Amino acid sequence: MIPGGVNSPVRAYGAVGGTPRIFVRGEGAQVWDADGNAYVDYVGSWGPLVAGHAHPQVVSAVSEAAAKGLSFGAPTELELQMAELLCRLLPSLEQVRLVSSGTEATMSAIRLARGFTGRNRIVKFEGCYHGHADSLLVKAGSGALTLNQPSSAGVPAEVAANTTVLDYNNAEAVVRAFEEVGSEIAAVIVEPVAGNMNLVLPSPDFLRTLREQCSQRGAVLIFDEVMTAFRVGAQGAQGLYDITPDLTTLGKVIGGGMPVGAFGGRREIMQRLAPLGPVYQAGTLSGNPVALAAGLATLKLTQTAGFFDRLAAATESLADGLQRAAREVGLALSAQAAGGMFGIYFRPAPPRSFAQVMECDIRLFKRFFHAMLKRGFYFAPSAFEAGFVSSAHTAEHVQRTVDAARAVFGELRQP
Ligand code: PMP
Repeated sequence: MIPGGVNSPVRAYGAVGGTPRIFVRGEGAQVWDADGNAYVDYVGSWGPLVAGHAHPQVVSAVSEAAAKGLSFGAPTELELQMAELLCRLLPSLEQVRLVSSGTEATMSAIRLARGFTGRNRIVKFEGCYHGHADSLLVKAGSGALTLNQPSSAGVPAEVAANTTVLDYNNAEAVVRAFEEVGSEIAAVIVEPVAGNMNLVLPSPDFLRTLREQCSQRGAVLIFDEVMTAFRVGAQGAQGLYDITPDLTTLGKVIGGGMPVGAFGGRREIMQRLAPLGPVYQAGTLSGNPVALAAGLATLKLTQTAGFFDRLAAATESLADGLQRAAREVGLALSAQAAGGMFGIYFRPAPPRSFAQVMECDIRLFKRFFHAMLKRGFYFAPSAFEAGFVSSAHTAEHVQRTVDAARAVFGELRQP
């Protein structure tokens, strides 16, 4: 009935084999499947659930909003609250528009950058995923990578021809591209911490070069923080690396598990959007009040004192514990964290490039995934996805995970 049995490809376990679990309930750090098995969850709906599953404050905000009406297709107070909050929390946002998914956010940001500059070319980086709009489905990460389909059928060659794909963390390639086709480049879009080819941290020099080149050549720098905003820290990756993009795309955490996306940035650019300007963008359910209630309640939780310090400490102790447990049994595994995101790599050191990500031992990852699943720990069903920790994950969850992983790593040493 459903193609591949799923409504988003990575859910199908194509990369790890076996049968996907059907989940019926989540609470805090845990999920339960239809057979009654409990799992400590490190997917967190692929990032949105930074406060864990079904947080009571989020659930009650949603119920309250739902009782007042599901949708109006007209301005509401919650939209204003969300816009004000996002502009306050992310100083690079002078104006913001709300949409319903990360894909809509990036697709609209690209159109806006093209409309603003009057240019067509987009620069992206191999292994970065920015949703499934045509021009961005070129050498993309996440599901596209898992399925081994670097680009998609159905994307016209004419569209892909306007996308230049460069190596992540390669600042020289960026300088060269601007020398060659700088006058054609409308935008550079980047995951400022890459989370769709496992987790790859940017070199500060790489991000700085993007900022400099875009400024010098009049191109729009788009930070795709759909995954990283309110996840790697209070001000996203732009706060962490102290770089101000022209536009930022948002999703995941700002919806707290409900469909919300956003894009925002410099007023001068944002005012080119309809109804003020000529760049069209719209949505029947954009700024939906029930979805925003979940997002606002989640963001409020992240604003409590020390939230991101605690989240980062828990995630760090998980990454550190996993790496140490593997090394105790002589397995060449590395792991690292960025705020509430982590990467586990079946290679001796964390990768700095897409090519290094591809060197990870996928067979070992598959065995790790299934052995952990059997023991009640749910990791992303692909070696190319980052992991997520929530504020509901306690030191006890982390310890149990590391202990189980130690036993699994021992098994992995046997052929
Ligand atoms: N950009 C990034 C960085 C993402 O991680 C994702 C989703 N994983 C998207 C865009 C697309 O968001 P959505 O799935 O909500 O369309």
